[in-house]
Amino acid sequence: MHPSAHSPFLIYLLHPNALLAKDTAVQMAQIGYPLTVFATLAELVSATHRQVPAVIMVDLGKVSASKQLQQELLRLRQVAGFVLILLSSRGNFEARLNAVQAGADAYFIRPIDLLMVGKEIEALTRRREQSLYRVMLVSEDEQYAEMLRRAGIEVVRTHRPSELFNLSGTYQPELILVAATLQDCNGIDLIRLIRQNACFLDIPVICIGDQSDETLHLPALIAGADDFLPGTIDATHFGVTVAGRAERYRALRRLIMHDSLTGLYNHAAIKEYLAREMMHIERHAVPLSMAMIDLDFFKKVNDTYGHPAGDQVIRSLARLLQQRLRRGDIIGRYGGEEFVIVMPATTLDAAIAVVADICAAFAQVRQSADGVEFYSTLSAGVAEASGHASAASLLRSADAALYQAKHAGRNCVIAASPP
Ligand code: GH3
Ligand code: MG
Ligand code: MG
Repeated sequence: MHPSAHSPFLIYLLHPNALLAKDTAVQMAQIGYPLTVFATLAELVSATHRQVPAVIMVDLGKVSASKQLQQELLRLRQVAGFVLILLSSRGNFEARLNAVQAGADAYFIRPIDLLMVGKEIEALTRRREQSLYRVMLVSEDEQYAEMLRRAGIEVVRTHRPSELFNLSGTYQPELILVAATLQDCNGIDLIRLIRQNACFLDIPVICIGDQSDETLHLPALIAGADDFLPGTIDATHFGVTVAGRAERYRALRRLIMHDSLTGLYNHAAIKEYLAREMMHIERHAVPLSMAMIDLDFFKKVNDTYGHPAGDQVIRSLARLLQQRLRRGDIIGRYGGEEFVIVMPATTLDAAIAVVADICAAFAQVRQSADGVEFYSTLSAGVAEASGHASAASLLRSADAALYQAKHAGRNCVIAASPP
């Protein structure tokens, strides 16, 4: 058995009650997560040995994780890398502790919102296949970079403090390490300078002291460093400290940049990505297209079926976009019922074809509210970046095309005219 043997979203569910299991499976399949159901632990274990799933969900019913279950799950975990999610009716401290002891990555208490479970699955599996932490090191000493690389961390090192700001723009570090003593300037002053720059407000900064001198510890913290590590630190301690802080930064960024209803990038994040992609095409002369999408007559959907049904429609479009678009495409919820898609390396014609397919598919998605079925449609404006001087100008152009699509009768896609 090899951890990479699992398909992207193979999900096993262990559930002692066949009827309830079927209900969970039907609902999960509806939101895009088909499950394979097992009635006993033995069946689950042997299936996992045959093929490792991406996720194992265990419904504990009204109890908490038993010692035997904990041990079996831990044993499975030692040979196979999967995400473990436990579902239960019990939310007390002991039940939660038992879940952690069984190795659970997430624990849901009834009544369970399966959309939240889906979102957690996305987040947890993404975390597993995530890229290496990116660290920027300002030091004349290569040995610190070597220590981090051995710990599986990506490092860009410069010995010139003045390069830090240029390099950070393109490299997007998740942590900055500064040696306390540098030839060109004092490391403590550099930390103060980093902290004065609004772009680095939230980024963790760690100061590495001199081999022999630790008197800089307090000045480094006062200057704005999050931590001070002595130059004599051992490699393991160093790697764990840096990875831990970088992970927390990454998790916070994820939270700040994502929309809670859909899990897509939020308004600020999608604008940031669009601006970054435009800088990229300026340097590399590749095409870039984007689409602005707006749900049709959405006020009427809310008025007729209720606001929660409206939210479901928004989620269903988000899910469709995630299914239909490529990995490199960037999807954001731009406003209430407005979405922006950024499509790198895509010409206007190709982008229109993709968005027109999405438009047609969305019109076929059956929506439901309290047993009543209905259909919803969308309109879109698509624009290509070439000739636009800024992200704002490109967005305006896509928005104007969207406006035309609304006037052309909605449920259609219109290309923006070149600037
Ligand atoms: P049009 O086809 O011209 O776009 O018509 P429309 O009714 O969609 O027009 P408009 O953009 O004026 O209305 C959007 C409505 O979307 C208004 C607002 O109540 C609703 N809305 C915005 N955000 C949300 C949300 O998060 N959830 C729900 N349920 N409704 C939202
Ligand atoms: Mg709107
Ligand atoms: Mg609308």
